[in-house]
Amino acid sequence: MLLVFLLMLALIMVATLVTVQTATYGHSTGQVRSHALTSARVVQDKIQNRATQLSTALSTFSQDFSTKGLIRTGKDDPASLRSALGNHQKRMEADLSWVLDQDGRLLSSTAETEAKHLEVSAERYLTGGIHWLKLDNHYYLVQAAPVKFVESSPRANAWLFGAIDAAKLIEQQLVELTDMQVSLMADGAVVVGSTLPMVQAETLLSQVNQVLHSPGSLKLDDMELLFFTFPIGQADALSLQLVLVTPADKAYLSYNSLLGQLALILALAAALALIAAIVVSNGITRPLTSLVSVTNKISKGQYIDEVPQSSTAEIASLSGAISEMQQGIRQRELEIQQLAYFDALTGLPNRNQFNEQLRELIAAQKAVTLLVMDLDRFKDINDTLGHGIGDQLLKLVANRLATLAVPNLFMARLGGDEFGLLCFDDKQVDADTFAKKVRAIFEQPFAINKIVLELDASIGLAVCPEHSSDPDNLVQLADIAMYSCKGHHHSYAIYAPALNKYSVQRLSLMTELKSALASDQLQLYYQPKLDLKKSKVVGVECLVRWIHPVHGFIAPDQFIPLAEQTGAIRHLTNWALRKALQQQQAWRNLGFELQVAVNISALDLVDMKLPEHLAALLDEYQANPSSLILEVTESALMMDAEAAMRALQRIHDMGLVLSIDDFGTGYSSMGQLKQMPVHELKIDKAFVLDLANNKDDQVMVKTLVSLAQHLELSTVAEGVEDEQALSMLREVGCDKAQGFYLSKPLPAAQFESWLRSYQPPLATELNA
Ligand code: C2E
Ligand code: MG
Ligand code: MG
Repeated sequence: MLLVFLLMLALIMVATLVTVQTATYGHSTGQVRSHALTSARVVQDKIQNRATQLSTALSTFSQDFSTKGLIRTGKDDPASLRSALGNHQKRMEADLSWVLDQDGRLLSSTAETEAKHLEVSAERYLTGGIHWLKLDNHYYLVQAAPVKFVESSPRANAWLFGAIDAAKLIEQQLVELTDMQVSLMADGAVVVGSTLPMVQAETLLSQVNQVLHSPGSLKLDDMELLFFTFPIGQADALSLQLVLVTPADKAYLSYNSLLGQLALILALAAALALIAAIVVSNGITRPLTSLVSVTNKISKGQYIDEVPQSSTAEIASLSGAISEMQQGIRQRELEIQQLAYFDALTGLPNRNQFNEQLRELIAAQKAVTLLVMDLDRFKDINDTLGHGIGDQLLKLVANRLATLAVPNLFMARLGGDEFGLLCFDDKQVDADTFAKKVRAIFEQPFAINKIVLELDASIGLAVCPEHSSDPDNLVQLADIAMYSCKGHHHSYAIYAPALNKYSVQRLSLMTELKSALASDQLQLYYQPKLDLKKSKVVGVECLVRWIHPVHGFIAPDQFIPLAEQTGAIRHLTNWALRKALQQQQAWRNLGFELQVAVNISALDLVDMKLPEHLAALLDEYQANPSSLILEVTESALMMDAEAAMRALQRIHDMGLVLSIDDFGTGYSSMGQLKQMPVHELKIDKAFVLDLANNKDDQVMVKTLVSLAQHLELSTVAEGVEDEQALSMLREVGCDKAQGFYLSKPLPAAQFESWLRSYQPPLATELNA
């Protein structure tokens, strides 16, 4: 800006100077010229005056009688005439005088020159004008007057001449009069007379001769001079000129001083403009520069509390706009941060923040207990009750988590139905206490829109630095613990290296399961059920086994929960049902009448196609509906979904046998049990395994059996591992027993040979 300013100023200055210079130079030149012209006139007038004086004096002398007489007798008495001429010449202040007779012959002269030079035509010199004559290399101003002896005579009898040395005409006085040096030049070369010293005049005029035009400029002793020439008469063929000379700086004095003043004014204006430009550009550029640095800071993510203000309206509005922009960016950044670090549904921090927090705590070398929690069967809730209810449930869980009385606690929703909690730097709360406190929030059911939901969660914990000091690894370990907890239906699990196997193939298994079904990697194993009253094997429980080509034997606990999560469980159930009925038919053909029991999951119950599918299968394998038992876990049944209840009812109506598996581990009440269309309770093996030694278990089993009898339900005890247990069960009136004491689950062929060789204990033996 400053540069453009200065450039413009310089241009304007140069233009002004050039115009002023040409104008004033022209004017000054005109002035000098007119001065020279006037001066030339003055000089010419002076010479003219001398010529007139001379002419008048000659006339007077020529009319004098004595003069006439002397001329008449001139031939005879030249001395007298000459003397008279000399006297008169003095009076006329002339330098020469002479007389020609009527024929033009010289009569007398005061000059020394040859007569022929003086015998000139008098007519030329009569007019009173300026006439020159060159005599012996000298120039003279010459005048003539006729002499008539008789005044009336038409012809002149003689001619009287007077001449003044031309050099004398150029007097010093002229310098004062004209303020110029005056010279008279003849023939363009010869200095006739000059107000200058002769040497100077000659060098000067030699240069004048080379300059064609007047006025011209020349140099004398390093001084610039201006000269003007004016013609001033002829001497024979030679022209005479007046040369007027004046120093150039004197002539252009006013012009130069004007230019000087102008330059000064322009320089002053330039200085002022420069200052103004600096002030103005500072007023704009300085605030702009500071605004630029502000925007640079904003771009680096720093925020400025005070955006620089300015008195300039434009800058002020710009800084206002920048301030608003910063506001906007800050707002959006907050929103983005909210989105990036918080879960929109529950308002809890999200996985990103959870990971960051964990990393920070570990970096600060804090002791951290990490808890991951996954809601059980949340997918079913979403599927059956809709996502709206699912969302509300998640909010309620978040609310309950917020009421946890754990001092140093950080919690986040990790995604879906998964929550993460960090308990740090707290020696009072060990992993078990922490897990139990979290568990406790599920004790009360959740109520949403008059729907009461029993909810459960799988909880896994890992401790830093005990298990790992790497944040990612710690999360992974807690996940492993959590999945093992899901698989084993424990209320929570703390990581232990033994759980590792559980996680290794977890992910790949999930994806492989479907193809495994197609490629016969899955098999059904059969575990006998002994009717304690008839002392006879009356049925089998069909249990799935996965013989993986790479990982080998995989227990159902490791993949059923995963299959439930991914939804692949439906394919597995269909497959198991078909296999079981197929096998039953095969045994029937061999003469073995066996009930087959197939485990189905909660998810299968909400599958609307299950009843039709069952009917089709029964038809296909010509099976009696009452020979097919469906085992559903107690917790699956507690999912008090209408759809599940309707499905159970339809299956019940079809004549199938429904059995509540793992009974005793859930929270079902008498009232709920009463309403359920089931036939059988399967007492969980947790109460049976140690039945012989554990008094509590004995009470529990007794109670459960009498409860079942009260509800008119038959009972099956699983996990019978010894003879004592078997007889105790029989004692309390349990209907069937299943367990390793009879047989482990076996592949079909082995089961057959087991069955053939099996000798059921006699009722009497059992009683003993
Ligand atoms: P469950 O239905 O309660 O099956 C009984 C489990 O107890 C079986 O474990 C069986 O091997 C085990 N068991 C039987 N007698 C004894 C005993 O005397 N001592 C001990 N310690 N254990 C005994 P398994 O086969 O590992 O199956 C575990 C669970 O996997 C089953 O529990 C069932 O919930 C599920 N499951 C198995 N097959 C299927 C299936 O085809 N579909 C579905 N949905 N679930 C299945
Ligand atoms: Mg079962
Ligand atoms: Mg069971």
